[in-house]
Amino acid sequence: MDYITIQDLEVFANHGVFEEELNLGQKFLVSAKMFFDASAAGRSDDLNRSVNYAEVCSDITKWMKTNKCRLIETIAERLAAKLLKDYEIVRKVEVTVKKPWAPIGLPLECVSITINRLWHTVYLSIGSNMGDKEKNLTDGIDILKRNENIRVLKVSEFVTTKPYGKTDQDDFLNGAVKLETLLSPHELLDVIGSAEKEMGRVRTEKWGPRTLDMDILLYDDRVIDDDRLTIPHYDMQNRDFVLGPMKEIAPDAMHPVLNKSIYELSLIRGRR
Ligand code: AMP
Repeated sequence: MDYITIQDLEVFANHGVFEEELNLGQKFLVSAKMFFDASAAGRSDDLNRSVNYAEVCSDITKWMKTNKCRLIETIAERLAAKLLKDYEIVRKVEVTVKKPWAPIGLPLECVSITINRLWHTVYLSIGSNMGDKEKNLTDGIDILKRNENIRVLKVSEFVTTKPYGKTDQDDFLNGAVKLETLLSPHELLDVIGSAEKEMGRVRTEKWGPRTLDMDILLYDDRVIDDDRLTIPHYDMQNRDFVLGPMKEIAPDAMHPVLNKSIYELSLIRGRR
């Protein structure tokens, strides 16, 4: 991917673990590599279609001077999140924070941290079979939208489906959501869990009735299987109420274990 680099922007600011660092301040050098598709800017010669590095430098300087962190790791983490949120076309950043005057009492050229952060692409399956099902789904999506680390990009049509597993209950309304997030898979699972709770879901029986159920289907091309999380969702390829809405919003999305697209998975499922 294309990128613009800001190299060693010098800022005098007050960050550090020691009292004197917070009170007296010191020099920091900040670098940022911002990844985005530069072709539109390149073809049009239009600054509005690129990342304005003068603006970025001014934003970084202002942020460095108005915040106080103990660790350069924290400075880098917060600056990375800020750039990813404030500059919409930036997909990924590499941020380096250098401290050339680190007060360690030994001759040292510089100490630095470099981190890489990016917007992750995620697909969720959502469902409800209690109360006003459509409202439950849209309210659930609105809870996600309120999270500053999540951008909801696409929502499928909602489809009515027969209950799965435990069949003696009301029909479900199901859908799929495409979002991008700065959260890790487990952080996202926590956000989804709180959204379900906020919507009044009480976890009683497996496959039982629910006001809101959200599952992580895909998270980039990650494969995770631990005591809290299985990604890709273990049963997505066998569920029409997942494949149908997913085919609408992401037919080309790849299942990283089965190595098949959603479109291919729904063809296979249709033949059964
Ligand atoms: P459910 O009753 O289907 O909503 O199950 C929720 C539980 O499944 C949570 O406690 C999660 O820890 C676990 N889980 C495992 N994998 C996933 C996933 N991909 N998405 C959501 N929950 C998951």
